[in-house]
Amino acid sequence: MRPLVMIPGPIEIDDAVVRTLGRPPKSHLDPEFIESFGRALERMREVFQAPKGQPFIVAGSGTLAMEMAVANLIEPGDRAVVADIGYFGARMADILERHGATVTRVTAPAGGVPLASDVTRALDGCKLLAITHVDTSTAVRNDVRALAALGHEHGALVVVDGVCSVGGEELSQEAWGVDVVLTASQKALGAPPGLALVVASERALASWRARKHKVASYYADFASWLPIMQAYEARQPKYFATPAVNLVEALDESLRVLLADGMPKRVEMHRRHAKAFRAAWKALDLTLLPKDAEHTAHTLSAVYYPPGVDAKLVSAVRREGVVIAGGLHPDLGPKYFRVGHMGACPPADVLDAVGAIERALASFGHMPHGIGSAVAAAQAALID
Ligand code: PMP
Repeated sequence: MRPLVMIPGPIEIDDAVVRTLGRPPKSHLDPEFIESFGRALERMREVFQAPKGQPFIVAGSGTLAMEMAVANLIEPGDRAVVADIGYFGARMADILERHGATVTRVTAPAGGVPLASDVTRALDGCKLLAITHVDTSTAVRNDVRALAALGHEHGALVVVDGVCSVGGEELSQEAWGVDVVLTASQKALGAPPGLALVVASERALASWRARKHKVASYYADFASWLPIMQAYEARQPKYFATPAVNLVEALDESLRVLLADGMPKRVEMHRRHAKAFRAAWKALDLTLLPKDAEHTAHTLSAVYYPPGVDAKLVSAVRREGVVIAGGLHPDLGPKYFRVGHMGACPPADVLDAVGAIERALASFGHMPHGIGSAVAAAQAALID
């Protein structure tokens, strides 16, 4: 039997999305593909809640989306701040530095979020504030709405790495004044890996247009892609570099499925599933890496191994039919595991994952409150 994939991306995807991948690739000039590409761009605006935003769909992963944001908005000598809550904050800082920025990383001890007062202090004279919404290494969630407001008070462009949040966490790009939201196809949007997704505000595009230096990356330059996105949205084909046709069709389909539920219902579903997992962790006497509930992600869990258990738990859970992930934080990696709970994962998958983890922990001798207590707690939370 195929194992159930419960890592923080790639995730289990809808059968309708899977079917699009098995089709023979169409020409990128095919009228059906043009329609699909145009629709996917329109659907991105709805999901990101950015009616005036400019969406980009480019073959690549989330890291390319990060680089697109930076390459187009940063010029050598600019100052940038990263509200850093883990591994991907450090990656963002590295990308910013490579494009010539002087970077201040405002951090917190693992599991926490940076203090607003520290971010405010760092923002003085700064061009760009980068915020990781949910850091997949820690399962910590930054308060994007509050941080974006601080960024704007200081005249900074606000860039949100929403790779582990878009489609799962509440995020309203335009209402919250976020200039760039970036993500990738393989997480809460429910498509396979392979697409870098960016939505840029008018302010972000104006800043890019006012650049003094050419964008250093040929492939990531908005100038390469903007005419393509505009053309496909107007249902005209245009070539810069061959689009990943099957992936774009898969994305279009996954966004259709997502929007059939609507964003509020999706966000609520992620909250409910996260609550069920949290109830299970409590029933197993496990400690979470995030330090407080207010900043704990709804899209994944990061959980310390209990005494006597180590990273071998991940393969033990795999033997029980469920794929989970080990830790990713540079200092704490071997001490915890991660479970993804994003996308339209049905409640049965939540219980399946909790059951597999409960059985695997029992095989290590960890069963603090009797057989089935974690599954019962998760079930109770799902019914509540
Ligand atoms: N940012 C965050 C928050 C992520 O979780 C990831 C991927 N796990 C990335 C960026 C990079 O995305 P990718 O692996 O698709 O390049």
